[in-house]
Amino acid sequence: MGYDLCRFQGEIDEELCCPICSGVLEDPMQAEMCEHAFCRACINEWLSRQPTCPVDRNSLTPSCLIAVPRILRNLLSRLSISCDNSAHGCTLIVKLDALASHLEECEHNPKRPMPCENGCGFVIPKDEYKDHNCVRELRTLIHTQQQKMTELKSDISEQNIIINELKREIQLFKDFMRAMRVKNPAMREIADQMERVEVIRWSGTLPRARVTRWGGMISTPDDALQMMIKRALSESGCPPHILDDLMENCHERRWPRGLSSLETRQNNRRIYEKYVCRRIPGKQAVLVLSCDNTHMTEEVMVEPGLVMIFAHGIE
Ligand SMILES: [Zn+2]
Ligand SMILES: [Zn+2]
Ligand SMILES: [Zn+2]
Ligand SMILES: [Zn+2]
Repeated sequence: MGYDLCRFQGEIDEELCCPICSGVLEDPMQAEMCEHAFCRACINEWLSRQPTCPVDRNSLTPSCLIAVPRILRNLLSRLSISCDNSAHGCTLIVKLDALASHLEECEHNPKRPMPCENGCGFVIPKDEYKDHNCVRELRTLIHTQQQKMTELKSDISEQNIIINELKREIQLFKDFMRAMRVKNPAMREIADQMERVEVIRWSGTLPRARVTRWGGMISTPDDALQMMIKRALSESGCPPHILDDLMENCHERRWPRGLSSLETRQNNRRIYEKYVCRRIPGKQAVLVLSCDNTHMTEEVMVEPGLVMIFAHGIE
């Protein structure tokens, strides 16, 4: 739809008006052959009902519409027009090509979003502002949030039922696998092999670490420290079948002879340099896996590996 003629100052040339709506051309297009110009919306509307030019009745289809000449666009853009919101108090007169950008920031736009001055946090269209009631809006908000929470709670309990079912099935499956493993040597071989490969794959994802101060080793880590390391191992993808054993091996009571006392530890420093250590991400601890350390003797190595926690000194 074109712009209402009464919004413009002075006489408007008939050439600048749309024959369909009689307003000043908005986003104009013209017919390729007869060069009659119309608002884009007006002519598209018209052609959806009949394939003719509204002025001369010659045949016309949407594919025969082209852009209007630059001179026509220039003439249009220089016209002065009053703001869309003049009825709401805007007295500004702008050039037609500046109208769109003015409308975006026009203070008199009745739909302009305004943040509530009482601090309820809502943003309200200006014309609805006088009917805005913070308490009522917030009550509605609380109500919908509560409904959502109830829905989420019931979703969670449903999920929990499914999780528990899956847990039971996994347990059954594990028991079955264990029984197969005990009964059948071939199965045992396959399962052992799969577990070994899993450990090697995991170890490959962990960065190598170098211990610079073996003296910083904590031989009796407390429970909290152990829990923290266990979590870090689990998050790094530690295969579950070795996780508990590894954690047992972070305390000197489970260490091999070559690590068992402070004295042996001091004497064996040179040997420890040969350990292949892996970093436990984000923690002052290293992992010495037996699959990485087949070159070390039983004197200083245990299955499936050692976890060494340090007060400092890891690179
Ligand atoms: Zn029109
Ligand atoms: Zn025509
Ligand atoms: Zn305005
Ligand atoms: Zn409010």
